[in-house]
Amino acid sequence: MKNTITFLGTSHGDPSVTRFCSSTHYAIAGTTFLIDAGEPVSALLIRRHILPSSLDAVFLTHMHLDHVNGLAHLYYEIEKYPGKRVEIFFAEEKAIGPFMQWNEAMHNHPLKEECLRLAAVTENFLWQKNTLSVRSIPTDHMGEKGKSFAYMIETTSCKILHTGDLSGNFHDFPLAPGDPPVDLCVCEATHIWHHKEILVERLMHLPVRKMVFNHIGPHWTDGKEDDLKELTASLPYPVVIAHDGTEIEL
Ligand SMILES: [Zn+2]
Ligand SMILES: [Zn+2]
Repeated sequence: MKNTITFLGTSHGDPSVTRFCSSTHYAIAGTTFLIDAGEPVSALLIRRHILPSSLDAVFLTHMHLDHVNGLAHLYYEIEKYPGKRVEIFFAEEKAIGPFMQWNEAMHNHPLKEECLRLAAVTENFLWQKNTLSVRSIPTDHMGEKGKSFAYMIETTSCKILHTGDLSGNFHDFPLAPGDPPVDLCVCEATHIWHHKEILVERLMHLPVRKMVFNHIGPHWTDGKEDDLKELTASLPYPVVIAHDGTEIEL
């Protein structure tokens, strides 16, 4: 079975002239889900003939605006055109109540529980469907201010790490030399810019078969990509810099 990862939005905190905010669509082992829901995620799915209510789940890496600002419209589309009961996993339990109130204020009715299930990710979170599992790995992107997670996605035939946003020096990189290998690592490329001299050192010995950079920071996008390409040219595995619309097959 073909596994496809589609980068819908690949920007960092601000959208750029070529990149929307962060959202990535996974179609893996017959299961479909999003990691993050930056705007305009609903429109980007619909343009690809993917109904939001056909998703099995949405996993949020953390609650920063650029990862969640498309969620209200996604919720609306799922309720209006119901299909599956979509599970949305928030990185913070405290975000669920206000999000429901905001939606109720817009639509004048409470959550339709037959359409959506809202829950929070925990440190030992494990979501399973058929042969697929999605496991959370806590990261330090938010410091003391909140929670953030990477996700390890596994099937019988492949293993993918999606880092989400990390700390500025990647000390919390959710994979280490000597770990079991991952077929694909989707790695954010914004916060390391201030420590870019250690980027290659951090990534050089990781057990990664292919690296895709997404969540591209302002210093490496829109005509400034060559700096990131040159910087990572010595890595011992293939490297792709994702753009909005990039598809990777595994
Ligand atoms: Zn971000
Ligand atoms: Zn962030």
